[in-house]
Amino acid sequence: MYKHEKPYYTLDTYLKETYGEKIYKISLDPGFTCPNRDGTLSRRGCIFCSEGGSGDFSSTTIEEGIRKVSDKFTGQHYIAYFQAYTNTYGPVSKLKELYQAALDHPLIIGISIATRPDCLGIEVLQLLEALKVQYPTKFIWIELGLQTIHEQTAIYIRRGYTLACFEEAVKNLHRIQIPIIVHIILGLPGETKTDYLKTMHYLNQLPLQGLKLHLLHIIKNTDLAEDYLATPFSMYSLEDYSLLIIELLEHVRRDMVIHRITGDGPKDLLIAPLWSSNKKKVLNHIHKEMKEKQFFQGKQLS
Ligand code: SF4
Repeated sequence: MYKHEKPYYTLDTYLKETYGEKIYKISLDPGFTCPNRDGTLSRRGCIFCSEGGSGDFSSTTIEEGIRKVSDKFTGQHYIAYFQAYTNTYGPVSKLKELYQAALDHPLIIGISIATRPDCLGIEVLQLLEALKVQYPTKFIWIELGLQTIHEQTAIYIRRGYTLACFEEAVKNLHRIQIPIIVHIILGLPGETKTDYLKTMHYLNQLPLQGLKLHLLHIIKNTDLAEDYLATPFSMYSLEDYSLLIIELLEHVRRDMVIHRITGDGPKDLLIAPLWSSNKKKVLNHIHKEMKEKQFFQGKQLS
């Protein structure tokens, strides 16, 4: 067990341990697009991606983001999370200006940049490396939407890059000591528990700081919604999803920070599974199950 005595290593715990206080993440949409949407790779995007580029709750400025959370958060510091679309996809001069503005902000302790592994070329890596030197007291994280390690599923969801490309990005980011967080979607059609367990074992071997597990959401106006409405495929119930999360986390390295174990898509756009819209209830259910099962992260690895 860890010194914090939590059954799994949550982001909240990591931040409190590291900074001694609760820190809130502000989701931002700085106005990028994505090569999987602007025609460079495709115009249709990943099959599940919403019109907001998977950043539907994002704000356009840090001040707006702080205002949005100020009623539920009374802490002092924030992480600027560049979430919507692909946040390293643009001229390096624009990226530099954007990241510097966030890192200069007195209430921001670090930035987290969501992107694709095929949008981390040499110039972007050099910029990240230079910013690390320029802001030694702040952090820069990269979040990669891998979603699956299985090639067949990657083709179905139209991810548009290979696992080899992901591995190259991880190697490059690790070389310049940028912490990496990987996103995985649970519930993609055709994937089973065995596939997810393979994914966990694969990720355990990589130098990752964190993991975000998302439940698949069917969002209105996506190609996935069209597929689902034409031929509904089975989706997890809350009970089955809880059991899945527990079993998977038992196979995840103990030092891996768990940034998320579910998702909360925009309620007005969510088609299924509707139970997922009550995030508090979902987390309570999973945590209760964890307690009953005397679960802890990495239990099956010892
Ligand atoms: S890479 Fe991200 S922003 Fe681009 S289409 Fe896929 S989910 Fe949407």
